[in-house]
Amino acid sequence: AKHSGDRRFLTFSESMAHRSVEMMNLENDLRHALNRDELELHYQPKVAHDGRTLVGAEALIRWRHPRLGLVGPGDFIPLAEESGLIIPIGRWTLATACQQFMEWRAQGIAPPSVSVNVSVRQFNDSALLETVREVLDRTGVPAGCLDLEITESVMTGDVERAVATLGALKAMGVTLSIDDFGTGYSSLNYLKTFPIDTLKIDQTFVRDVSRDSKDAAIIATIVSLARNLGFKVVAEGVESLEQMEFLRDNECSLFQGYWVSRPLPVADFCIYLRENHTV
Ligand code: C2E
Ligand code: CA
Ligand code: CA
Ligand code: CA
Repeated sequence: AKHSGDRRFLTFSESMAHRSVEMMNLENDLRHALNRDELELHYQPKVAHDGRTLVGAEALIRWRHPRLGLVGPGDFIPLAEESGLIIPIGRWTLATACQQFMEWRAQGIAPPSVSVNVSVRQFNDSALLETVREVLDRTGVPAGCLDLEITESVMTGDVERAVATLGALKAMGVTLSIDDFGTGYSSLNYLKTFPIDTLKIDQTFVRDVSRDSKDAAIIATIVSLARNLGFKVVAEGVESLEQMEFLRDNECSLFQGYWVSRPLPVADFCIYLRENHTV
């Protein structure tokens, strides 16, 4: 399974395949998860080349299911997308991350920005712009402190509409990251016209970087592409000092991964913020 490295998560392919009744109930359960307050956001730091200076935090959703325990997004985001539940869940995620950011501010420990994942269906939803504007207004988060992570797949649909949506988000002042960069099938052409701030190098390229010269070449190329086009570049899934040093040598200066910290529940992330707050 994609996230089998993370033992806190139950993986359906391993342990649930035979429990089909549970599976069928899952969509129904998910429908109620919001009202029952079962969803939570964990946060993972994004840091600069020194491995410590915090540049942001990514919100990653988890579902504390009453019987199944902590369920990872890989096991319910696809279901949420199919069923359309991703729209209210996405609204909740955005609002919760923004509220949390303001709590950190009040405590004087806020990271420079908070990143929220936006799936394709959310991105294409006609209410997205209104939702983002409403959440920013209501919570008081400065637009420049909200970063939205989208995947290249938003460029494979109605390109004109995608450009318009990105332009409107950009006009609001939020920043935009391309998640899982290099794994989509879209052309590089969109990089010229889309108002993007950051490319996130997918963790599949990072994983074997010190052993696989092709992955190393891909990373070096993405970094120089980003540099030439004026984008920041974040490497995700950095698990070892070796990977970090390779990235640093290749002038990739922003990192995210277990080597720095796993995604943490709010209480633990607050401790991390206090310990790493330098101002
Ligand atoms: P993603 O946005 O690419 O997030 C990165 C994933 O890699 C996260 O898995 C994170 O926990 C994991 N990760 C971070 N550092 C490391 C590392 O050093 N090694 C390894 N092996 N993994 C690492 P997670 O939390 O299971 O999320 C999986 C995917 O679910 C995310 O991929 C994202 O596409 C989606 N997702 C998560 N939260 C949300 C959300 O609030 N809304 C939406 N729409 N999608 C979400
Ligand atoms: Ca992401
Ligand atoms: Ca990613
Ligand atoms: Ca991913």
